[in-house]
Amino acid sequence: MTDNLPPPPKVDPEALTEVAPGVHVIGDRRVPLVPNIGIVLGKDAALVVDTGMGPENGRKVLAAAKRLAGGRKLILTLTHFHPEHGFGAQAFKGEAEIVYNAAQRDELAAKGAAYLGMFRTFGPGVAGALEGTEIVMPDEVYDGATKTIDLGGRTVEFSTYGLAHTKGDQVVSVPDAGVVFVGDLAEERIFPIFPWFPPDDADIDADNWMRVLASIEAAKPRIVVPGHGSIGGVEILAAVRGYMLDLGPRVAAELKSGKGKDDIVATLGPKVRAEHPDWEAPEWIDFAIRYFADKS
Ligand SMILES: [Zn+2]
Repeated sequence: MTDNLPPPPKVDPEALTEVAPGVHVIGDRRVPLVPNIGIVLGKDAALVVDTGMGPENGRKVLAAAKRLAGGRKLILTLTHFHPEHGFGAQAFKGEAEIVYNAAQRDELAAKGAAYLGMFRTFGPGVAGALEGTEIVMPDEVYDGATKTIDLGGRTVEFSTYGLAHTKGDQVVSVPDAGVVFVGDLAEERIFPIFPWFPPDDADIDADNWMRVLASIEAAKPRIVVPGHGSIGGVEILAAVRGYMLDLGPRVAAELKSGKGKDDIVATLGPKVRAEHPDWEAPEWIDFAIRYFADKS
């Protein structure tokens, strides 16, 4: 989403680290539109969290998961429906049991095709990665806030909190290892992603998003795997929450002083950029300002 076209969003299966025993992450190498991908091993099954974008990335992630899993059964889940997280799922169809929460399944069905179209406009690198992409539906869906899956000697927990970054955000935690995969609820040294594209997509709730971050933080995970950026601890969650806590009231104050939305974007945007000199993807600042202005 920059004026400069992003590079091809290629997952690099060699960027593999074991962040805790049996908890592996294929890191994003801070490449735009590549997510951090999890592979969690139990005795009987291996869980894959997110796939990368497009069939080729999906195949690479599947191959990496099979190498680690050996003969274990494979399960795939997604942090949310956005293309760079889940649009490689077709490689897993028939190879893994695909499990989503109901909101994510519904959001994918409602918006998947439109997002595919939008992302194809992001230049040849992204369009190439998406070539041949098919939107696939899960094999199993759960209703309600949580689901626990037994991988054999280890359980993983899926948690769903309602509308935040999307309608179907899902946090995956590995309690025995203190690891949590938070998807785009948090990026590390990257401006929080506000997919605020009204009228096509206006499904964000920053208040709930902050509550979700606070509740994940309160569970005191040892290792936080953000949707994008480097792996760290709870400070990643606190930084995102702090950004929203600060920005919302500032936008509201500017509106109250009589400024128009475009004016606020033009004046406040560069200030916010300057306050986080080492954060990437500043194009998301304007979307966040417009979200808070529209919601004020
Ligand atoms: Zn996202």
